[in-house]
Amino acid sequence: MVLKTENLARHYDVSLGFMKPRATLKALNGVSLSLQRGKTLAVVGESGCGKSTLARQITMIEPPSSGSLWLDGDQVDTSSVAQVKALRHKVQMVFQNPYGSLNPRRKIGDQLEEPLIINTDMKSPQRKERVRDMMQRVGLRPEHYYRYPHMFSGGQRQRIAIARAMMLNPSIVVADEPTSALDVSIQAQVLNLFLDLQEELRTSYVFISHNLSVVEHVADDVMVMYLGRVAESGPKQTLYEKPLHPYTQALLSATPSIYPEKRAVKIKIEGELPSPLNPPAGCAFHRRCPHAVARCSTEEPVLRELSGRQVACHLAEQFA
Ligand code: SF4
Ligand code: MG
Repeated sequence: MVLKTENLARHYDVSLGFMKPRATLKALNGVSLSLQRGKTLAVVGESGCGKSTLARQITMIEPPSSGSLWLDGDQVDTSSVAQVKALRHKVQMVFQNPYGSLNPRRKIGDQLEEPLIINTDMKSPQRKERVRDMMQRVGLRPEHYYRYPHMFSGGQRQRIAIARAMMLNPSIVVADEPTSALDVSIQAQVLNLFLDLQEELRTSYVFISHNLSVVEHVADDVMVMYLGRVAESGPKQTLYEKPLHPYTQALLSATPSIYPEKRAVKIKIEGELPSPLNPPAGCAFHRRCPHAVARCSTEEPVLRELSGRQVACHLAEQFA
């Protein structure tokens, strides 16, 4: 197992304004997951569901409020600055906007070499060799070495960002909506690049996306999140063919291109995502759920095994 988390939670103490009491925002509320080497776990949900908070925990940018994290089989003491520093290179991040993560004033070759200078004792010729090799793997040409970020298209910049993430041969790459800023025609090329690199390098991905068509293309497993919790999680095919959580059903029925003939359930999500500062009692989805019964507004469903996946819905059997 490359990555495992158990009951990972992140709560923020927030101020609601002058003279108002402080409140607790439960951005992430007990998330357990596991990821195998060379596989992709897609994390799906609306903005505000906790995806990016989860990414910050996995990349060790901030420590969890509670819960445990294992990397390559070893439990990480997330409160130890030294240990986090020593392990952080194992988990790299690719962001939605590659331009924001590249330095506009430095040549691409130099930017790709930088992580090798900081984290390895490779000599200059070796480093340059590795940079050229990685540039080639991501589809950049040798002369691109001397160019600056503004001289590239959005798709090429994302290739550069991916190359940089791969420079240190990480165990995991966390990609946060890596294609949503790109033209549709370029998206597929970048997704295929992710897949090719995974095949060559056996990197594991945590792929964060709200787009279920994109997820369908890249994921092995899918985890659907709602208000900081897991609604449903399991192998992609299992979830896409027969989603058991009404929220997964709704997300999938809003994505008509995927298995349309198998999509018997058609439901729409009504209303807004509730505030995580004031989550509804019972099932967090109950105010928007077309199947909600009385019990749903008082009793929180637990995540449990059913039909080859995990699901948190009182009525899941009914949809199986
Ligand atoms: Fe809907 Fe109730 Fe299931 Fe929640 S527990 S998803 S409200 S049916
Ligand atoms: Mg986000």
